[in-house]
Amino acid sequence: MEALDGVAKGAGAVTTLTHHCLCEEEGIKAIRDAAAEHSLDGVLIAACSERSKREAFKGFEADDKGLYRVSLREQVAWSHPAGEEDTRMLAEDLVRMGVARLKKTVATQPADEKVDDTVLVVGGGRAGMEAAIAAAGLGHPVVLVEAAAQLGGHLATLSSLLPVRAPYAAPQPNDTPQLVKKVLAESRIRVLTSSKIKCITGQPGQFDVEVSTSDGSSSLRVGAIVQATGAKSYDPKRLGHLGYGKSPDVITSQELETMLVRGAVACPSNGNPPKRMIFIQCAGSRDPDHLPYCSSECCATTLRQVSGIRSAHPGIETVVVYRDMRTPGQLERFYLAVQEQGGVLLTRGETERVEANGNLQVHLKESLLGDAAVLDADLVVLATGMVPNSADGEQIRALIDARKRAETSESQAQRQESKELAGKLAHHEGTEILNLVYRQGPDMPTLRYGFPDSHFICFPYETRRTGIYAAGALHAPMDAAQAAEDGWGAAMKAVQCIEAAKRHEAVHPRAGERTVPDFFLQRCTQCKRCTEECPFGTLNEDEKGTPQLQALRCRRCGICLGACPERIISFPDYSVDMVASMIKAIEVPEEYDEKPRVLALLCENDALPALDAAAARRRQWNPWVRVIPIRCLGSTNIVWIAEALGRGIDGMILIGCKYGDDYQCHYVRGSELANTRLGNVGETLQRLALEAERLKLVQLAHDEFERIPEILDEFAKELEGIGPNPLKGF
Ligand code: SF4
Ligand code: SF4
Repeated sequence: MEALDGVAKGAGAVTTLTHHCLCEEEGIKAIRDAAAEHSLDGVLIAACSERSKREAFKGFEADDKGLYRVSLREQVAWSHPAGEEDTRMLAEDLVRMGVARLKKTVATQPADEKVDDTVLVVGGGRAGMEAAIAAAGLGHPVVLVEAAAQLGGHLATLSSLLPVRAPYAAPQPNDTPQLVKKVLAESRIRVLTSSKIKCITGQPGQFDVEVSTSDGSSSLRVGAIVQATGAKSYDPKRLGHLGYGKSPDVITSQELETMLVRGAVACPSNGNPPKRMIFIQCAGSRDPDHLPYCSSECCATTLRQVSGIRSAHPGIETVVVYRDMRTPGQLERFYLAVQEQGGVLLTRGETERVEANGNLQVHLKESLLGDAAVLDADLVVLATGMVPNSADGEQIRALIDARKRAETSESQAQRQESKELAGKLAHHEGTEILNLVYRQGPDMPTLRYGFPDSHFICFPYETRRTGIYAAGALHAPMDAAQAAEDGWGAAMKAVQCIEAAKRHEAVHPRAGERTVPDFFLQRCTQCKRCTEECPFGTLNEDEKGTPQLQALRCRRCGICLGACPERIISFPDYSVDMVASMIKAIEVPEEYDEKPRVLALLCENDALPALDAAAARRRQWNPWVRVIPIRCLGSTNIVWIAEALGRGIDGMILIGCKYGDDYQCHYVRGSELANTRLGNVGETLQRLALEAERLKLVQLAHDEFERIPEILDEFAKELEGIGPNPLKGF
């Protein structure tokens, strides 16, 4: 320990303090006393991982002190043999790196924001109404905007709902009218029907919203937004092979619902009640040519309709052809109850086609009734899937940008292309819902099937527009009970966001973070990399392309910091200069044979916890590795690579989250952006006579902690094969 005291002082620490338990009251007091005695600006804690005991050390930020923690327990004591020279050098480097970073840290100045408490809910279906009730119940004023003339949405049109109470044996009455009454009776909820959002500007806590209403327009200031604009049925006109459009007696579940509400199930061709009805499940769903996904509630909806028909019209024989009957949770009991009801045949099979030759013939293949069975029916019901009522704002924005570029291009071919782009844009025009005045587009970005994205593994309600939360069938296919829960979940997130905005704090994943990036705009070249790459639409642009920070939208990922070629974006406690100083603080021995050096930049979200978990299991890894935790792989600035390899560090490994549509990257695009940006670095390294293999990128999930020591060891071994960095010693 004394040796480390000397290292810390050598690196610039004013004083050091050793205590058997720094996170206990006595330890905290000792740190505070030392800070007061020496008028310290910051405190470096060289003990356990920064991920442990956060609450114990939180007070230092409140005291306006810089704080940085070096993980001697996980990265040294638990993972490397005691008493060895390599272990000692590792500990010394970590302390030096910590002091270097702390010296560049500016204490956070807490700021309080004037924030509006109102929650705006867009969409008055089940999820929207439940979100409004939830937020109002927590004391928040709510404005509920619905495009239709009445509240209730799709569910208001149903004859009954799925059972939600034991014994789950029969459909339950549709309680939507009671829910509508409850909303209308709640004094904190202002309902605007026949209304649409004209535009939204601002940021969480301070959104300004223009609503066009039936009698003019209304201006609102709100703190957070829940979008619950639901879903529509898949267009059955695309299902000609299943007979839709060829015979009036092929209908959708929604069309059958209208008959059930009227109490009369009849063949549209002749008005007679059918003798036999066939329900075709997955009509256009789980089909790469139509909807590739499962809408999750159509099987249960069919069972509900069959149950209703068997009770009200026992003379009608019902057949259900399914690919897999998907009835999750307690709905499995409902499935059993319908089977026991009698008069219903449920059979597995693929529906190849439906032919209309007088009567309807349903052609099955690979069915339980035979490999190629044909069933006659008077009425066929197609269980069509759900398509979200979303608008992909990013795609609209990309089309606008591409058209602008093409229009102003000198090339004839490109100008021609602008016409095609205008056509594509016209296809999207009018689909806008939120009309966000954001640089990155008028609505939330969506995933490949059109649902606004969320980090479904870790933060299911967070979207890529801070303070705006998707709920209900817009969020994912779901039934009424799930939509109600989803509405509550989204409302809780909206309230949480408003409270965080009051304290000027970030929401997930850096919940509680109070710093925001600072842009030294005098040196900005308006290259627009930051405004284009920010995954959260935080930055607007002025006419010249200069970024305009909307601080409360910021998730503090640092991706802009990694993107900026001018290196003019910094956080008070995280900057290009700070990490570069840490790299400079690593001692790089000249005699390579004994002491190669490897720099590992580890994303704090998955890779760092995985390393801590490996250490907790006493896994060991190569002692040449020096770890710097970073906010996101996307925050990696190319300068850090130049700094490390230029100083003779033999190789650099960057470990980030998995990316792609099913991403785990906590900042959605960070890990992917790092891969794209660093993809070309190999060539640059080769020009410097450095092997491209000295730089490695790895994607790792939090639970792959067994792999991380192996990954580090393997990379160290690969570097041994490559040999020493030729820049060593220069
Ligand atoms: S820190 Fe992240 S969220 Fe904030 S402006 Fe930069 S890229 Fe956007
Ligand atoms: S990346 Fe840097 S230089 Fe480019 S627009 Fe943003 S702040 Fe300006």
